[in-house]
Amino acid sequence: MRGYVHSIETMGLVDGPGTRTVFFLQGCPLRCAYCHNPDTQKRIGGEELTPQRILEIVHANS
Ligand code: SF4
Repeated sequence: MRGYVHSIETMGLVDGPGTRTVFFLQGCPLRCAYCHNPDTQKRIGGEELTPQRILEIVHANS
């Protein structure tokens, strides 16, 4: 399995307690009228990552 990651935010502090690593995915099929990140809607672009690689990044930032 592979996914496309638009961007990674380390030390995420909003939307809940504690800190977290946030992965913003590329290729959202929805088209919300007031999307704050319309550049993530395109299916092309982004970095292709495996779940294993994502977990490596999470562990490296925790
Ligand atoms: S707000 Fe944007 S990224 Fe979020 S579900 Fe809607 S279209 Fe997708």
